[in-house]
This record gives sequence, structure tokens and C-alpha cells, in this order.
Amino acid sequence: MPADPSPRPFFDPATALPPTGRPAAGLLAELDALRAADAPTRGGRTFAYVYDPGRPEVDDLAAAAYRAFATVNGLDPTVFPSVARLENDVVGAVASVLGAPGAQGTFTSGGTESILLAVKTARDQARAERGVRQPELVLPSTAHAAFHKAAHYLGVEPVVVPVDPVTYRAVASDLTAAITDRTVLVVASAPSYAHGVLDPVAEIAAGAAERGVLCHVDACIGGWFLPFLARAGRPVEPFGLSVPGVTSLSVDLHKYGYADKGASVVLYRDAELRRHQYFAHAGWPGYPVVNPTAQGTKPGGLLAQAWAVLRHLGEDGYTELTRRVAGAADEVLAGLRATEGVRVLGEPAGSLVAFTVTDAGDAPDLSLVLHTADEMRARGWYLQPQLSHAGLPPNLHLTLTPATAGQVGALLTDLADAIEAARALAPATVDPALRELAAALDPDALTPEEVAGFLAFAGLAGDGAQGLPARMAPVLALLDVLPPRLKERLLAEFVGSLFRV
Ligand SMILES: *Cc1c(COP(=O)(O)O)cnc(C)c1O
Repeated sequence: MPADPSPRPFFDPATALPPTGRPAAGLLAELDALRAADAPTRGGRTFAYVYDPGRPEVDDLAAAAYRAFATVNGLDPTVFPSVARLENDVVGAVASVLGAPGAQGTFTSGGTESILLAVKTARDQARAERGVRQPELVLPSTAHAAFHKAAHYLGVEPVVVPVDPVTYRAVASDLTAAITDRTVLVVASAPSYAHGVLDPVAEIAAGAAERGVLCHVDACIGGWFLPFLARAGRPVEPFGLSVPGVTSLSVDLHKYGYADKGASVVLYRDAELRRHQYFAHAGWPGYPVVNPTAQGTKPGGLLAQAWAVLRHLGEDGYTELTRRVAGAADEVLAGLRATEGVRVLGEPAGSLVAFTVTDAGDAPDLSLVLHTADEMRARGWYLQPQLSHAGLPPNLHLTLTPATAGQVGALLTDLADAIEAARALAPATVDPALRELAAALDPDALTPEEVAGFLAFAGLAGDGAQGLPARMAPVLALLDVLPPRLKERLLAEFVGSLFRV
């Protein structure tokens, strides 16, 4: 036998490239089968991650529009002028709702990329205009983790300001007081993801403007919901670029825009500011590079599907869908507030609700929160557990969508049941000795064996997803007491173990 011409350093028949190609039908069937173990993305029982308008024709349109542009490369609008036209239409539609005269923006792959770009823009603007060399980012403790990621990637120091412990809203005067000569950007959320409450955007932006600092409004989740809530006749505090002092804004079209995943817009006050976002490079022998975003080659399909969905639904369509969500939110809030041992956190601005479950003394009870999540999962619902943070209580998070509107009655009935079941269970507790041990560990100096040992103890060892425990309460209870850096290290190792190649 001739020697293999390409020796393979790694070969696992389960994942290796098949030696001969397989027919399409079998592959598509395998993809379908894989979805069986996933949380359902349609039908209104998954209260996080997915946004179901409850209108199947929107899904069909998005898929068809993607397909029409699937082979188009958004990298070069001079070769594919359709891309510039579609992006102008999408950003223009966003600007018509959230912008101000002169606003300019960019279509991106998601909220994280929009935020990354807004922070980069602010960092580079402050360097160019104010000579800031050691940039700082002032943000409320409830700002999305994507700002910490941006700060980490971009060499910017996050300055975290606690929120009001009763309303969960950022405190404008505290944010303003945290501004220094190095501050490149101040952040407000409209609303925050964790508790769904709207920060006092006008006050925060005014404080930043007074100090000559830029202000970003993270409207990733609320930007395509709150304006239509106002249009449906409900009171909504203004938060867009027309608010004095707001200089940039992010809005995800793959959330309440009901586009498929991979669609967001970052919008700036004017061209002068957006200029700092662009990267250009002519110092290599290849084609001259101009990249408005983090990507080089860009999928034309994502832009096309977002364009089609926006224009298919239009103002009236979004207003109607928003009305349905607002109705569901009213019903959920009334139901939760009437449920013994449940406390809604803050005053939700519209579509996100966080609630905690309390013990006999009316204090938030981590174990009850986590057991309730497990009990709900066993009943076919996904509610998102959020751990305690800096004095803010652990809770369960609900993202309401039009599809969930028809499920509220069933949800509340099962929730009451689940809480009762949770109260009957032995509390998920953490051995104090383990807690002490964890506090003494240096997360960055752990050996691979120590990490593996800890994960095994936490119930997170084994063969990736197959090894996930059915009940997450014991795992999450342990995570809740670990110091943040240790938690980050262990979770990163755990997720790494899921991607085992
Ligand atoms: C979803 C979200 C983000 C991050 O967006 P991704 O699309 O998940 O990258 C940022 N901020 C808020 C408020 C969000 O809801």
C-alpha cells in the first residue's frame, strides 16, 4: 500500500472530513435531527435567546432573501453596489426611528460587534481630539457584558458604577461623578438586559456632554421595541440620538426586528464621529482594504434578510407585534405580582421581566430561584437564571415575544406549580469548606488537573454537552458563591470542553 500522502496529526472518524461526499438529503436530515435536543426557537416556550414574531411568513421571507444574496460578498461595495444600496436602506430605516439629522451608521453582525465598534470609535476619537492615551469607559453595573469585552479587546479600562439597588436604574449623577480626563465614553442602557429597566438617558447624556465626553445608548434590545411601544400609545422616555448629548446608539435587528441572527446597526451622531470606526490599510501588496466593521468578507445574505424583514413588517407591523408583547408583559407582571413569594425586580420598560423567588422571611432565595428554573425546564419552559451580583439578587429572566403572548396563562400556572415543587426540595447549598477553598485559590495559576477536579466537583465534567446534568441548581449554586475571576476561568474551561476538537 502506498504511504498516505498527507499524514494526519489528528484523526477522529467521528469528526473527520468524509473520504467521499454524502448526498444532500441525508445531511439535511442529520441537521434536522440535531435540532431535537435544542430548545425550541419557535412556539413561545423559550423565554431567552430567540424572538418569534409568531408569523411563519417572516421566517420564509428571511430565508429566501438570504438565499438570494448568499453568494454576495459585502466586503466591496464597488464590486457589489447592491450591498451599499441595501445597507443605506437598513441604516436609513433605523435612523428614521432613532436618529437625528446627519446621523450615520453601519450594519453589523450583532449587538456585541456594534458595541465593540462604538467603543473603538470613542477610544480613537478621544485619542485624536483630546490626546487621551489611557482610555476609560464609564458604565453602570447593569451595562451589558459586551462593553467589558470591548474594553478588554481594545485596551480600555472599565469604570463600573453601581446602580440604584431599588429601581436597578443607573444613577446619572454617579456616572457623571466617575468621569475623568481619560473618559472616552459613558454608557446608558435602553433598557438593560438583566432587569429590563430604562436608564435615565437624558440625564446621563447631559452629564457626559457637560464634560465634553461621548455617550452611547445601548438600545440593542429596546431600540426596535420602545419606539413602537410609544407609537402604540404608551409613555416611553426618549432615548435616541435626538436626545441632547447622545452620540451613538446600538440596536439589534435580530432581536425585536425579527430578522435572523446576525443583524444589528450602530448609529452615530454624524459622519465626523463614524469616521473613527473605519479601518483602512494600503500598506500591503494586496487590494487596498477599507473595513467599516470587524469583518473583512461579509455575508450579503444577512443584510438582505434584515432589509426584507424590516420592509415587510413596516411601522404598522412592528407596532402591532409590539402591542402583542406589551399585552403579554402586562399579563405576566400582573400574574407575577399576584404570586406569593415572587418579587418583580424594578419597573420593566416593556418586554423583559426579571423576578426573584423569596423565602419565608421575604428575602431572595438563590436555591428557590434555581430549583424553579429546573422545575420549569422539566415542564417544557426555558427561563434564564441570572446569578447574584454585587448586592443585586439572583433571579429568573423572561424575554417576552409575540409568540409568548399566547402562552402566558399556561406559563403562570406552571410557574406557581414549579415554585411549590421548588419549596419542597432540599435546598441547593454549597459546602462552606469548599467556599473557603475557592476563595483562597489563584484562578490564573490553576493547573489543568485542578481545573478538571473543580469542574468534576461542580458536576460539569465529562463529555461536553452529553455530560450536562439534568438539574442545573447545584452547579449554579456553586458558581454563585465563587469569586468572579475563578468563575470566569472555570466557565471558559467548561465551554472549551464542549468544543472538544
Ligand atoms: C443582546 C444585547 C447585547 C449583545 O448583543 P448580541 O447580539 O448578543 O451580541 C448588548 N446589549 C443588550 C442590552 C442586549 O440585550
